[in-house]
Amino acid sequence: MTALPPGAVIGILGGGQLGRMLASAASQLGFDVHVFCPEDDAPAARVAMKHWQAGYDDDDALSGFARACDVVTLEFENIPVSAVEAIAATGTPLHPGAKSLAVSQDRADEKAFLNSIGIATADYRTIDAETDIAPALAVLGGKGVLKTRRDGYDGKGQAWLKTESDISAGWQAVEGAPCVLEAAVAFEREISVIVARSSGGETASWAPPRNVHEEGILARSIVPSGLSREVEMEARRQAVSLVDALDHVGVLALEFFVMADGSLIANEFAPRVHNSGHWTPEACQTGQFEQHIRAIAGWKLGDTHRLFDAEMLNLIGKAGLIDPAMLAPNETLTLYGKREARAGRKMGHITTRLGPRKD
Ligand code: AMP
Repeated sequence: MTALPPGAVIGILGGGQLGRMLASAASQLGFDVHVFCPEDDAPAARVAMKHWQAGYDDDDALSGFARACDVVTLEFENIPVSAVEAIAATGTPLHPGAKSLAVSQDRADEKAFLNSIGIATADYRTIDAETDIAPALAVLGGKGVLKTRRDGYDGKGQAWLKTESDISAGWQAVEGAPCVLEAAVAFEREISVIVARSSGGETASWAPPRNVHEEGILARSIVPSGLSREVEMEARRQAVSLVDALDHVGVLALEFFVMADGSLIANEFAPRVHNSGHWTPEACQTGQFEQHIRAIAGWKLGDTHRLFDAEMLNLIGKAGLIDPAMLAPNETLTLYGKREARAGRKMGHITTRLGPRKD
């Protein structure tokens, strides 16, 4: 792919905060941005040159949008296959492509794919009916997490099964949708690797942050992770092997459980910029949003070297109604422009530079 010149149009599917931060990075690099999303008044649409307001099942609107753009990308992976096809038919490149999207949209396919390229996951069974659960739970050690194969995020579409008596409520919580039942992983900590791959196949990853979740939602990401260099390098190697195997173009995040002996179990990946990479713009030479735009625009990737120790804190629900005057000098505030704070809703984040990198 030849490098897109400044003034070219980047199209973003999805109107949330990830789209908003991608749009800002694209605009900093001299691109114009069009956002496609059904919602009125969406965070990304409000910083874009043009908002195409239509549903992801509106093929005519998708075609018009794609024809107006030089490249199309996305801020969420659950777009229908029909939308991917409508965009492909226009000839405008879509990054990431169909393979990254198809594999990541289904938790069972995702785990099978990871396993097929040598990346370990939690042991799991597919569940199609309530009667599948008890035998699977027994095989998996009596404790596990039921997760819908499709459309789950931030702990939604999940239910912990700690005994057989949890099965019926768990099945109701996932509304009887096709699921995977995963063995409970007794991890020591969680990390993620954010990695980018260019259209020419060049890759660059960032130091993996340690991630702390509360009620299934990311609360904080911290660098350095506190893990040994060997464990971090192995996690980064696995993430690079994943983007290569997917022929992925753009940023991708691979989440891991780290066991007490340093072994790694992949949880899931997202074929896009990720909440656990929100500290990268403030702490590294190149941040994840700029890097994603560089990759999809056919540019050379930027340097991912980490300059600062840092911590990213998500502002969730009412915590998002923060008084900017209370910030410390080493804190950077990013607000997503959402009109209303609701429980569990990500409103913004604060990245704290803890000092120059020490390791
Ligand atoms: P997920 O939506 O799959 O990323 O899960 C959200 C969070 O729930 C993870 O980051 C973990 O903290 C926890 N979790 C998910 N699956 C498991 C598992 N199999 N064993 C232990 N904890 C899990």
